[in-house]
Amino acid sequence: MSLLCFLFACALTVPHDFGYVDAQDGSRIEVDAAIAMANEHLGAANIRRQLVYRGASERTKLADNEIAVYVVVEPGSAVAIKREIERLRTKVLEFQSRDFQFDPAFQDCSDTDDCVENLYKGPNVASLVIETIEKITNSHVAEANNDCRCVILFARDLQRYQAVLGAPWARFLLRARFSGEIDPDTSKVPDIMLHDDGFALRWILVNVLLHEVGHHEKWFMYEVLQGPAQNALQNYRKFLGTERKIEEARADAFGADVMSKSCFSNISSDAKRSCITAVYSSMVIFGITLWGKTKEARCVRYFDPSIDYPNFHLRGLVRDLLMVKGSRPELLEDFLDTRAGLSQKPWIKDVPICLKLKQATFFKSA
Ligand SMILES: [Zn+2]
Repeated sequence: MSLLCFLFACALTVPHDFGYVDAQDGSRIEVDAAIAMANEHLGAANIRRQLVYRGASERTKLADNEIAVYVVVEPGSAVAIKREIERLRTKVLEFQSRDFQFDPAFQDCSDTDDCVENLYKGPNVASLVIETIEKITNSHVAEANNDCRCVILFARDLQRYQAVLGAPWARFLLRARFSGEIDPDTSKVPDIMLHDDGFALRWILVNVLLHEVGHHEKWFMYEVLQGPAQNALQNYRKFLGTERKIEEARADAFGADVMSKSCFSNISSDAKRSCITAVYSSMVIFGITLWGKTKEARCVRYFDPSIDYPNFHLRGLVRDLLMVKGSRPELLEDFLDTRAGLSQKPWIKDVPICLKLKQATFFKSA
């Protein structure tokens, strides 16, 4: 029995009431929309699985191909949670309002060169980078559970996730990329980047749900790619180390493979937006982490957050590779090379967070 089943007593087909409530706070609307879109993707990819929302007291038996989706609203004061999410939103806004000017004298420093610490002038943004990334990687948005053939969504972490990933980042990325050299208002930049309202929770959620369905499916990630893309993928797999990480990578690969079919077929425009969200959130992670050049921030950027989960940005690169078959495998190779180089640095042992994350990254389960 998994720990989750122990907590939620879900050894039977339908889990016990405890811990599950009907989400009344608006997230239910987003969850319903996301389930409908995820089903659209699955159908278009010829996967016969379907997701169905289940309220706490629903006892209808699942059909053979159905996976139940429950929303767990964690105990605690709604007011306190709202305050926390608001604080997170303020942090993101603060981050986005910073100016990042780089010193050209250090522009050739790579992330494995220590001179890279001098690249950005002005206030040190590393702590904001670390905090923002940690908020995403430590958010436990969902869990798949085989014993009850269900997916459990955690309402509070979904809100955290959206506060960071769903914020309008396009303008910030544009401004930061060109360091004030071009004025986004007068330059010819795509409209979508200037009028970005961020991403709705439901589009992010579709990607989460497809990943969770992946935990219920037998599916392997080697077969779909060839040539350099497959080499890059095998390189990635080689460093996964623990069973849990391999399983997470497998679930990611399933979701990406579904989208590699559905996103290029005839699906609704709303569902198509969820395809862009996957690629776009990788870009956001890249954008956020780019400005953290201290030792600590580089460790957070390149190493895995724990022995259970692969690096968040790395997962995005792999997902993109699988979604758009074989595109840009060099991005993935480059990330892995830089990470390997970073892990050899003698200073790692003197920086506690680096040592901890390096061990989590290269840990091999017996
Ligand atoms: Zn997972």
